[in-house]
Amino acid sequence: MPLLFTPYSAVLILTALVSAATAYAAWRRRPTPYSTVFITMMLVVTGYALIAAMEATAVRVSDKLFWSKLEYVGSNGTALFFLLFSLAFTGRQVLIKWWTVILLGVVPYFDIMLVATNDLHGLVWPSLTPGPAGSNQLVYGRGPGFFWAIAVIYVYVLVGVGLLAEAAIRRSGVLRNQALAALGAAAAPVVGSLAYALGATPPGLNVVPMSFTLTGLGLLVSIFRLGLFDLVPVARDMLVERMDEGLLVVDAQERIIDLNPAARRLLHLPPNSLGLDAQKVLAERAVILNAPLRPGAGRVEILIDTDPARYLTVRRAPLRDRRGTPSGALYLLHDTTDRRQVEAELHHANDQLQEQLKEIEALQSELREQAIRDTVTGLFNRRYLEETLPRELALAGRRSLPLALIMLDVDHFKTINDSYGHEIGDDVLRTLGELLAARTRSSDVACRYGGEEFVVALPGMPPDSAHERAEQIRRAFSQLRFRSEAGEFGVTLSGGVASFPADGETDGALMRSVDQALYAAKHAGRNCIRVAPAP
Ligand code: GH3
Ligand code: MG
Ligand code: MG
Repeated sequence: MPLLFTPYSAVLILTALVSAATAYAAWRRRPTPYSTVFITMMLVVTGYALIAAMEATAVRVSDKLFWSKLEYVGSNGTALFFLLFSLAFTGRQVLIKWWTVILLGVVPYFDIMLVATNDLHGLVWPSLTPGPAGSNQLVYGRGPGFFWAIAVIYVYVLVGVGLLAEAAIRRSGVLRNQALAALGAAAAPVVGSLAYALGATPPGLNVVPMSFTLTGLGLLVSIFRLGLFDLVPVARDMLVERMDEGLLVVDAQERIIDLNPAARRLLHLPPNSLGLDAQKVLAERAVILNAPLRPGAGRVEILIDTDPARYLTVRRAPLRDRRGTPSGALYLLHDTTDRRQVEAELHHANDQLQEQLKEIEALQSELREQAIRDTVTGLFNRRYLEETLPRELALAGRRSLPLALIMLDVDHFKTINDSYGHEIGDDVLRTLGELLAARTRSSDVACRYGGEEFVVALPGMPPDSAHERAEQIRRAFSQLRFRSEAGEFGVTLSGGVASFPADGETDGALMRSVDQALYAAKHAGRNCIRVAPAP
């Protein structure tokens, strides 16, 4: 095939190279919802420019005609993909299915068929005349088919532009800027194809692929650069893509504009959820979108799955553009299921421990009570007295206060047991216990010393008062009447009184003194109180 390289060939080959570089640059960038369709569009433009270059370079009319026909694949394909890009860019990529692509391609296919069969009907190019002498140009006559094909391309481009314009109006913030930039970039083919159709461009030079290349370059610079994290691509890759925390960004319309693999995993999102309606795609997990927006403390734990239960701690931060207009929200998601489980187990273990502690404390105090109490009378026992008396004496000594001891013994108790029974005997002891409890202060220590012997320690009580108190108790007890099957009977007490420090300075000495006093009372005929003899 004879070829003639002209400046036109060079310009078109450069166009192809720039288009290919643009596609490559977009491919190197982080994927966006419209990356695939953009890259495809730029590859189609590359092919289109290469075909146009071949047409400009070919010499033979038949060769030129072949490339010219093939150019229609390029121009129609470019227009189709520009429309698809506009759909994807404006968040309508759900519409891009294999069958919609075929449907949208019906008219372009028809154009391609029309030009392919031009030899039969001459509807596209009714005439072909050689260009100026010395050039390899071919001047194509323009029939109705040519203008129809241009019109189709125009319609596709204009619909795309319309979509972008609508987005520019509807959106706000960064996204509006992106839409405006896309709109600006789309101006080139609108102007370029119009100029070409009107014959305002040099004959033999197809400016349409060049104008689409300009669009691609514009889009690459403005849109792909305006991405949220593209300013620091390294940080994004190292940090955001690999971190365990999920990161989700939605725009003002709650469409997902960014998310990392962790967020995809935590929220069970499909692989390509960019651009989708977050409410819809999250379904019941959309509760996270309403996480409270409290500055600083905007963190809540949300039950995201049941069976097995899974909890996410969600932090939500509002996004605003430079002018302060709300432009969406950023969510940080952290799986706190394990921590919660450990916490719950810890709580449970702690509760159990508290319970056991309470039980032990209750048992301890019960045990202590048992250790110091007499079960029959409810008074303190002898052990408690022996524990307490030395302490009380030391205290009284330090404060120079008196302390009195009263020792009481039931008279002829053996006989009561023998005459009325052991149980009646117990009743008598219990009654005496109640009497002592009633007649002593809380600071006094009333105890059952053993058998039917009782001792009351009275801290701070002078000897005379103690004697009087013992008499009162004796008298009160002697006036009580007890009932038995054998009839009513009364019981008497004998008692001794000894005082600290006069009758003894130690517990042992004092006990001996009070014992002697009691012995004296028994000796004196019982039912009386005796004071310890002076030592
Ligand atoms: P005295 O006037 O000399 O004190 O004569 P007594 O019979 O009271 O003296 P003794 O020490 O000989 O007898 C005490 C009796 O008390 C002997 C014992 O059977 C009885 N006794 C000791 N502890 C209890 C008890 O818990 N319940 C009953 N029912 N009897 C008891
Ligand atoms: Mg007795
Ligand atoms: Mg006795």
